[in-house]
Amino acid sequence: MTAVPVTIGRRTVDRDVRAHPDGPRDRLVDTHGRVHRDLRISLTDRCSLRCTYCMPEQGNEWLARTSILSTDEVIEVAEVAARLGIRTFRLTGGEPLLRPDIVEVVRRISRIEGDDGPVEVAMTTNGIRLADTLPQLIDAGLTRLNISIDTIRRQRFAELTRRDRLDDVLEGIAAAAASELRPLKLNAVAMRGVNDDELVDLVQFAMEVGAQLRFIEQMPLDAGHTWDRASMVTREEILATLGERWRLDPVPGRGGAPAERWRLDGGPHEVGVIASVTAPFCGACDRLRLTADGQFRNCLFSLAEYDLTAVLRREAQSAPAERAEAIAGLLRSCVHGKLAGHAIDDPSFLQPVRGMNAIGG
Ligand code: SAM
Ligand code: SF4
Repeated sequence: MTAVPVTIGRRTVDRDVRAHPDGPRDRLVDTHGRVHRDLRISLTDRCSLRCTYCMPEQGNEWLARTSILSTDEVIEVAEVAARLGIRTFRLTGGEPLLRPDIVEVVRRISRIEGDDGPVEVAMTTNGIRLADTLPQLIDAGLTRLNISIDTIRRQRFAELTRRDRLDDVLEGIAAAAASELRPLKLNAVAMRGVNDDELVDLVQFAMEVGAQLRFIEQMPLDAGHTWDRASMVTREEILATLGERWRLDPVPGRGGAPAERWRLDGGPHEVGVIASVTAPFCGACDRLRLTADGQFRNCLFSLAEYDLTAVLRREAQSAPAERAEAIAGLLRSCVHGKLAGHAIDDPSFLQPVRGMNAIGG
């Protein structure tokens, strides 16, 4: 048995990573019976934007470049995760397109065989640089794309992201719209007094480019720790605003997806809402996360991190099969430690130390 440091908030404790062999050893099933199928891999904490709800304008403490997982390490982990039942790998950040070897990462993950065929490789991006790289990404095996856009008004975009780059984002969305990747999803965080007068316009924009808009409730994950429950725009408010413009019919069959969906005026267009705060969907959560500096997390809001880097270092001289078993043990331990829910609405809730850009959204 080997102990590995697990970080909880700012405290690090030693835990035995092979102490939880219960449950099927070839599957990532937690103590609440949830089977994990989705691993979100953050490739960098750096970004070309500075969205107010995600990063502070200045003074962000960047991860040391030497701590960022190499492509070989990311692939090694993805291979183990696929053997344990992960079917979708979502590349995120920070901004994943800032990673110089992003096409290689997509290519190598997309070649991994899951238990029922090739795995899916998805990406969440702010769209900057997408127009240039999309053909290569698709050729490399990218299967799904989410692009974030919170406003289509130039001045507002510059204020919200602290960068005047709306045109670059729109170029990226146009390239995605012209590609074969479907469904194409656009993500917008709804914010009071910032873009809550633009919800209908954003949906209309998405319809025009053949995409589905998904509104996200703002979550307490900003690196600046400025989130305020009282001022966030709720799912109910979003639906009330959209309901004045369209008839909204719920789409059944959500499964483990974070977004609830509604058909607009009978279809074919749809809108989604990700209501992590007011209508959490933890009961069906099948997601795990790996940060760019090699920490597994079992929830966006988790205070605990499971130190993959320590395992890789410890097993540096081990045979590949032993390393793979050590990585699998850490993943199982991470899954075993998953709580039933995140309790954002509970007064005792503590915001994670890392901001969203360093966790991976
Ligand atoms: N840079 C890429 C992007 O913006 O799409 C990928 C990383 S970003 C952290 C992933 C998603 O998280 C984005 O859709 C972003 O809007 C969302 N996000 C970031 N901070 C958030 C917060 N505090 N509350 C809700 N969503 C947030
Ligand atoms: Fe960058 Fe995405 Fe965070 Fe905006 S939400 S600052 S684009 S990582």
